[in-house]
Amino acid sequence: MVMGSIAENLKEINEKLPDEVTLVAVSKTKPGALLMEAYKEGQRIFGENKVQELVEKYEHLPKDIQWHFIGHLQTNKVKYLAPFVSLIHGVDSVKLLKAINKEGKKCHRRIPCLLQIHIAKESTKFGLSFEEVEAVVEQKVLEGLENVSVVGLMGMATNTSDLEVVRNEFHSLKSLFDQLNAGYFKDCDNFSVLSMGMSGDFSIAIEEGSSMVRVGSSIFGARNYSNKKQIV
Ligand SMILES: *Cc1c(COP(=O)(O)O)cnc(C)c1O
Repeated sequence: MVMGSIAENLKEINEKLPDEVTLVAVSKTKPGALLMEAYKEGQRIFGENKVQELVEKYEHLPKDIQWHFIGHLQTNKVKYLAPFVSLIHGVDSVKLLKAINKEGKKCHRRIPCLLQIHIAKESTKFGLSFEEVEAVVEQKVLEGLENVSVVGLMGMATNTSDLEVVRNEFHSLKSLFDQLNAGYFKDCDNFSVLSMGMSGDFSIAIEEGSSMVRVGSSIFGARNYSNKKQIV
């Protein structure tokens, strides 16, 4: 595939997104100059999956950028993100919720989080099972966590060319989202985010009810992990 410029890629993706769907530009491994190309086109939400890389970019790039953490977060690193992070997508344990709460308290913030749900077939993908989410809710874990705001769910589909598998996984996540929205989070106005869909599957995710897509390679091109380069 011949990639267009970042501006062209962004325009093409934005044309495919309904107004109510939020685009997170996944900029992991990409240098600050490329993020700025997207910024100049109006993009303000960027997603990163490494704490140190996110913090370095936060320090060097414009302050009106909203930073989303989309990776697997270790409890001992929450403190670096707590003062400024806009949304943590991958919360997959009570231990992590408690750590975020603790650091949120220190910063006098209520940190917005998404519970990551395991919907894929691969065992390598992180996330809570449906049963574990139910347990978190039933045991009223969230009630004691005043500095955490669970605003929705996040999931990653199986990496497969079988689009029916992908669709079914997104469908099951949307069902869980609707169920929680009508049940436990009924009186919670800000339980509204369903983060699902990446470069290869965001159109299906939107058809299945996604409200937030995380798109990297379709905007910035393929990632090259082996090539250690300066980040900012
Ligand atoms: C890298 C990543 C993405 C973006 O993937 P692309 O296929 O490049 O769009 C989305 N979500 C998560 C959690 C990621 O780690």
